[in-house]
Amino acid sequence: MKVDMDKIVSLCKRRGFIFQSSEIYGGLSACWDYGPLGVELKRNIKEAWWRGMVRERDDMVGLDSSVLMHRAVWAASGHEEGFSDPLMECKACHQRWRADDIKDSRCPNCGGELTEPRMFNLMFKTFFGPVEEEAATVYLRPETAQGIFVNFANVVDTARKKLPFGIAQIGKAFRNEITTGNFIFRCREFEMMEIEFFVKPDTAEEWFSYWLEERQSWYIKLGINKENLRLQQHGKDELAHYARACYDIQYLFPMGWSELEGIANRGDFDLAKHAKHSGKDLSYFDADSGDRFVPYVIEPSAGVDRAALAFLVDAYDEEPDKKEMRVLLRLHPDLAPVKVAVLPLSRNETLVPMARDVYASVRKCFTTQYDDAQSIGRRYRRQDEIGTPYSVTVDFQSLEDNAVTIRERDSMKQIRVPVAELTRTLELKLSGEPLEVLPPGGKYWLGFEG
Ligand code: ATP
Repeated sequence: MKVDMDKIVSLCKRRGFIFQSSEIYGGLSACWDYGPLGVELKRNIKEAWWRGMVRERDDMVGLDSSVLMHRAVWAASGHEEGFSDPLMECKACHQRWRADDIKDSRCPNCGGELTEPRMFNLMFKTFFGPVEEEAATVYLRPETAQGIFVNFANVVDTARKKLPFGIAQIGKAFRNEITTGNFIFRCREFEMMEIEFFVKPDTAEEWFSYWLEERQSWYIKLGINKENLRLQQHGKDELAHYARACYDIQYLFPMGWSELEGIANRGDFDLAKHAKHSGKDLSYFDADSGDRFVPYVIEPSAGVDRAALAFLVDAYDEEPDKKEMRVLLRLHPDLAPVKVAVLPLSRNETLVPMARDVYASVRKCFTTQYDDAQSIGRRYRRQDEIGTPYSVTVDFQSLEDNAVTIRERDSMKQIRVPVAELTRTLELKLSGEPLEVLPPGGKYWLGFEG
């Protein structure tokens, strides 16, 4: 379904996914705090990316480089000089705009006259050490990629990887964005998941196409509807100075098609620049061919926060249920902040010990919530709204037959499972195992398949 941003923002606040930073002091714009459920969602996104891009591949290694780097890194990369957006200010209301967001040369807020554009560097500056002087300037990194390039030789020397191979990194980035908004779409502090994939120059185009496919299918495997994704090629005039080719993977956000991830063929721009500025040899020796050359780089660069927003928007659904409207997040089980909820039918004291035992065994395997407040119907709704794929109900019959009910979020179908088979059944369902893989007593599956 199509959802407007207000509904997502309100659900995120109401259920503890995302709060405004420094809210009790009036808020800090374009900075966000991830609450108890948001932090789980974000960790799950990063975990899914790391698993798919690093751990399950032979041609990728990870890195965690520091946020603060030598100022020379940003001179070499071109960020000190060129990482800027054109800024215009309204002479009447003094609101500032990115010139490329202006349509008819008037202020979109009040229609006032705008100043000429001037270039505004997006890097946050601070000082290294106790003296606040120009020579002590350092930047908060606006991307994680440069940490990878400056470690290229270290990784080649130590990880014994041959080309083609990639280095992957997840970490915070900071950009002093001129215009913000659209919730967590554009933040001043955000997290990135970046790959620099090093290849022989004559294979770069092939690998570029490979990564375009690979990255789109990562989103689709995690539940994003194919129809809501598209590729948009950067025209020659939009292409960054370092890129030979660049595509955006766009998602149909509530405000329209917008960039979710960028994939660029950066050629040998970065390694060549760092080699020149540092005086270090960053070429690669190919033992098979006996050639020495500077590798080309394919860069899939994704934002964790934008991905979180896309997953939330895509999962959001409303459907009539009896007289009410059921709100649910159809999140992929790998992303759902809570995998299983254990719900005793009531707080009756004869039920509680068994429900607690079930909870104790399930939570060892999955992120689990125990909830005994209010009616069972309301508790199901609460879990639907935060995207919990399965709820386990302990009722009076459980005391007799040592079995519990599993309710599936999406279909609301219920099945009865012996407690002894509960975690195994949940494990199989959560991992999306095909139905042929039946647990002992496989008949219990049938309920879900209807
Ligand atoms: P935009 O055109 O939206 O400013 P960009 O082209 O500058 O983005 P890249 O430098 O390609 O973005 O960054 C790679 C990815 O990092 C983006 O696709 C996005 O997912 C994420 N990203 C970039 N800037 C921000 C931001 N200010 N807030 C949240 N995520 C961001």
